[in-house]
Amino acid sequence: MAPFARVAIIGLGLIGSSLARAVKGLMPGVALAGFDRDPGVREAVARLGLVDEVAPSPADAARRADLVVLAVPLGAMRAVGEAVRDALAPGALLSDVGSSKQAVIDALFDLVPAGVHLVPAHPVAGTEKSGPEAGFAALFTGRWCILTPPEGTEPEAVSRLADFWTRLGSRVEVMDARHHDLVLAITSHLPHLIAYSIVGTASDLEGVTKAEVIKYSAGGFRDFTRIAASDPTMWRDVFLMNRDAVLEMLARFSEDLSALQRAIRWGDGDALYRRFEASRAIRRAIIDAGQDTDAADFGRTHPDAPEPGPERGRP
Ligand code: NAP
Repeated sequence: MAPFARVAIIGLGLIGSSLARAVKGLMPGVALAGFDRDPGVREAVARLGLVDEVAPSPADAARRADLVVLAVPLGAMRAVGEAVRDALAPGALLSDVGSSKQAVIDALFDLVPAGVHLVPAHPVAGTEKSGPEAGFAALFTGRWCILTPPEGTEPEAVSRLADFWTRLGSRVEVMDARHHDLVLAITSHLPHLIAYSIVGTASDLEGVTKAEVIKYSAGGFRDFTRIAASDPTMWRDVFLMNRDAVLEMLARFSEDLSALQRAIRWGDGDALYRRFEASRAIRRAIIDAGQDTDAADFGRTHPDAPEPGPERGRP
C-alpha cells in the first residue's frame, strides 16, 4: 500500500510536475492535489491532467493531505510554509525538494504545528529546463533522494518518506542537512557557478565576437552552456541560501585552479597529466555507479562517426 493517501504538491514546475507524473504513474490510488502561483502553470497542469485537483490556494491543496511537498524556489519556502501551516492536518508530513537543506529547515522549522512532521528532501535529479511541460515521470528513476530530517524527527516519519521516494524509483539516503549542503556545493552548486562564469566571460570577450563563440561552440563550451541555461531564479536562491558551503568550496577550487595555472606557466606537464588522469577516473566511477551514460558525447548523434569499436583511451 502507498505510504500516503493524499499528496499535495505546491509549485508545479519541472520538479513538482515530474513528481506529480511519477506519483500518478506509480501510485495510482493516491489522491493528488496541486497549486502553483502562476495561473498559466495551473492551466497547463489541469490541461495535462497531472493532478486530480488544481487547488485555488496552497492551503486548499494542503488541507486533508497526509504529505505536503513544497516544490518552489528556495526563497519562497518560508512564504509557502506560512500559507499552508494552518491547513496541515495532525500527523501530516511536510516535505520539500529544495536544492539546499539547512536553509529549508531554518525557513520552516518554527512554522510546523505540533503533531506535523518536517522531513526535508532533495531529489538529486533535474534538467536545465523549467515549468510543467518540461517535467517527466522517470526523472527520479535511479537517482538519489537525500532526506535531511532535523534532530528529534520521529524515525517512522522518515521511513514513510523514504518508502515514498523508493517507490518512485529513487535511491534514498538520510543525511545531516549541513553535510548535504557541503556535498552538493561541490557536486552541483560550484559546477553551475563555474558554468555561469565561463559563459559570461566568453560572451564578454572583446577580441572574439559573439558569433564566433556560438559558431565554434561544439567543444567543451557547449556543455557549459547547457548548465548555464538553468533557471536563474532557482540558482540565485541556491547561492544565497547555501552561501557558506559554496564559499568554502569556491576557496578550495580557486587554490586548485591557481595550481593548474602555475603548472601551465612553468611547463609542468607531469602535474597537468596527473590531474587530468585522476579526473578521468572520477568520470569512470560516475558511469560505473549508473549516474550517467557511457555513450560518447553524452549520446548525441553524430551521423558521420565511425561504428563503435573496442573502447580506447580508458585509463
Ligand atoms: P520551476 O520549474 O521554476 O518551478 C517552480 C514553480 O514554483 C514555478 O511555477 C513558480 O512560479 C512556482 N512558485 C514560485 N513561488 C511560488 C509560491 N510562492 N507559491 C506557489 N508557487 C510558486 O523550478 P524547479 O526546477 O521545479 O525547482 C523547484 C525546486 O526544486 C527548487 O527549490 C529547486 O531548488 C529544487 N530542485 C530543482 C532541481 C532542478 O534541476 N531544476 C533539481 C532538484 C531540486 P513562477 O514561475 O511564477 O515563479
